[in-house]
Amino acid sequence: MIVDYHMHLRDERGGIDHTADAVEPFVERARERGVDEIGFTEHVYYFEQTKDFWPWPYYQERCHFDLDVYVDALVEAKGRGLPVKAGLEVDWAGERADELAAVLAPYPWDFLLGSVHMVGDHAIDTGAELGLWAEVTEDEAWRRYVEMLSAAARSGHFDVLSHPDLAKIYGVRGSDDLYAELAAAVDDAGVALEISTAGLRKPVGELYPDARLLAMSSAPVTLASDAHEPVLVGEDFDDAVAFARANGRDTVSVFDAHVRRQEPIG
Ligand SMILES: [Zn+2]
Ligand SMILES: [Zn+2]
Repeated sequence: MIVDYHMHLRDERGGIDHTADAVEPFVERARERGVDEIGFTEHVYYFEQTKDFWPWPYYQERCHFDLDVYVDALVEAKGRGLPVKAGLEVDWAGERADELAAVLAPYPWDFLLGSVHMVGDHAIDTGAELGLWAEVTEDEAWRRYVEMLSAAARSGHFDVLSHPDLAKIYGVRGSDDLYAELAAAVDDAGVALEISTAGLRKPVGELYPDARLLAMSSAPVTLASDAHEPVLVGEDFDDAVAFARANGRDTVSVFDAHVRRQEPIG
């Protein structure tokens, strides 16, 4: 079984299109590439239901789509018999995480991704030597990132952690100690880790996460393209599958209504 459990429901040009019809090209691309099942995971900050949670202009500017319309599109796609799962990429909301979880709870999610993009008031992926990277030392930036992602893991609100070492995006490496801290949080919480090919398309030029995290943790894994357009579904999955196997993962996690099972990978 091959799953791609991280993508954003957009049209062919990357524009928001939360309709069941927009799902079809993603499924078509998945079939071309031997991906058996795909999970949609739109950013939580695109939805007006969450707009009170985000202090940052980048988030507020995008927070005007309707979560019900998005979920209905995915439910309709399932109704058409498409191999689709309903998910969301949920930014860690810190002290308000429980409150955000309560907003999301009524919806029929198969899985939720826990994600850290913002550390303090800066996106960790805003640019090399910019934002957070200009404000604090590299070690401190990493420490803050791992602290937040570990808290997200331990919160129990998420099934999978997405791009679990996004902080390496510009090639700045985290220490073994920080990876060990994150691995402990992941294993204590029983959350899965995403092997994401998005990092191959970023300056770091490698998969998320570092092999060290898979070695230090016993977490199950999903596979993820982080596609923002249909053409990227299943992108570089040969690399992701080989990496999973090389790091002791012979199965992939499959989720239905937050219930995880393991299927042989491939
Ligand atoms: Zn992300
Ligand atoms: Zn994403």
